[in-house]
Amino acid sequence: DPRLHGIKTQIRVVPNFPKSGIMFQDITTLLLDPKAFKDTIDLFVERYKGKNISVVAGIEARGFIFGPPIALAIGAKFVPLRKPKKLPGKVISQEYILEYGRDCLEMHVGAVEAGERAIVVDDLIATGGTLGAAMDLLERVGAEVVECACVIELPELKGRERLNGKPLYVLVEYF
Ligand code: IMP
Repeated sequence: DPRLHGIKTQIRVVPNFPKSGIMFQDITTLLLDPKAFKDTIDLFVERYKGKNISVVAGIEARGFIFGPPIALAIGAKFVPLRKPKKLPGKVISQEYILEYGRDCLEMHVGAVEAGERAIVVDDLIATGGTLGAAMDLLERVGAEVVECACVIELPELKGRERLNGKPLYVLVEYF
């Protein structure tokens, strides 16, 4: 798709952020280009509209940028998956292992019902731990995760292998 080149061009790579040795993929520059941002959303919408998806779950924080416009365009609800102690209602929590230490995502109880069809949206998959925890939350309440969707994949980190065979759709790979 010719739109993918324009999207890739607008993603900035920042060396040594947030710490030495990391090549940070910065999507804020993509957001500054209305054409590339719209193309990004359109590609996801074209993939998911008409697929009977009722839940778009977005991961804090950059999944909150891409998830809502997709949800609105396909007629689905948007469900924020947040870092601990941010959501005010009753939550379920899912811990996951990071390279150093652990982290946690939470979802409001009652936001998603058993049998709903969901996609999970984030900006980037690295090791896959974050998306894996997000899928666990949705599956624990009986939802079906149809696919995970990210703008960027770092294939060398083999995050796909942590998704238990669940399909992953990405627009751009960065090696
Ligand atoms: P994973 O759990 O190792 O797959 O890491 C993915 C999570 O870390 C996502 O929520 C990303 O937003 C964030 N992340 C990791 N590396 C980058 C990066 O280079 N740019 C932006 N976000 C990143």
